[in-house]
Amino acid sequence: KRAKQTGDVELYERSSYDIVRTHFGIETRLRRAIENGEMQLAFQPICDLSTGRIISFESLARWAPDDVPVSPVDFIPVAEECGLIVPLGRWAMDAAARTIAEWDAQAGGPCGANVAVNISAIQLQRDNVPAMVRHALETNGVDGNRFTLELTESAIIGDPDGISKTLQALKDLGSRLAMDDFGTGYSNLAYLQRLPIDILKIDRSFITGMLADRDKVAIVRAILSLAQALGMQTTAEGVESNDLAQTLAALGCTYGQGYLYSQPLSSAAAFDYLASRKA
Ligand code: C2E
Ligand code: CA
Ligand code: CA
Ligand code: CA
Repeated sequence: KRAKQTGDVELYERSSYDIVRTHFGIETRLRRAIENGEMQLAFQPICDLSTGRIISFESLARWAPDDVPVSPVDFIPVAEECGLIVPLGRWAMDAAARTIAEWDAQAGGPCGANVAVNISAIQLQRDNVPAMVRHALETNGVDGNRFTLELTESAIIGDPDGISKTLQALKDLGSRLAMDDFGTGYSNLAYLQRLPIDILKIDRSFITGMLADRDKVAIVRAILSLAQALGMQTTAEGVESNDLAQTLAALGCTYGQGYLYSQPLSSAAAFDYLASRKA
């Protein structure tokens, strides 16, 4: 009953009046949540598929108005539509940088993992993302090489020179760049080759059910050989079983992320998980 008030069940409502009202409801609440510091980040480990070693954590935005969680699948598109993705993205980058600084302080040195931050295509268009990232790094006293910035394919559509410059500016901060949800968008492959992308993240839709689906295996193989040809590393999303992890490792995929390793965790739980795996 309470979820109804937060707007996260509104997908079922069809009329345009309802959609407008819902968006307005989410938008107002989201704006307040960002201003009042009510957003959280969850952290999901990304592991080396052959050794299981934790390489980094992807930071994922969490919002639970009145303790009822709303999925980012629902609120990120709203934030993109109304421009709130700019303050939300700034908050997420700052919170990720602050978390790494806290983990390092707690570990008494570099904590041993990096953090991946999602950057929306709309954010890339509307904000000065390199300046925004630099500001978050400086404010929290952390090095850019502790971060991977995840961009979707839609981020690299448009003015090629402008995008090249922006991505190079992000690389100049020392961060790595990952192409998120690879295979679901419309990447111009020739163009991809000219951009300073370090990692391709293979979308979960190709990984889920892959062991029983030759077509999916063929697609995953093709993405892996493309990545290899372009000198990029690869992360498989949605790794839920040991069999999948072993098969992906045998196919040459570098990293994996998914429920096999862990669900997204609070920052304290992520730190404990990291510490327990190192011990
Ligand atoms: P994504 O970037 O593809 O993130 C991975 C999503 O897959 C996360 O969902 C994660 O919880 C989920 N996931 C991870 N492992 C598994 C698995 O083994 N099985 C299954 N079924 N799911 C798994 P989440 O946290 O709901 O985020 C959804 C999307 O929302 C993200 O997809 C990303 O596109 C967006 N998002 C989340 N946080 C942010 C943010 O801070 N900024 C931006 N721009 N987008 C964000
Ligand atoms: Ca991502
Ligand atoms: Ca992804
Ligand atoms: Ca995905």
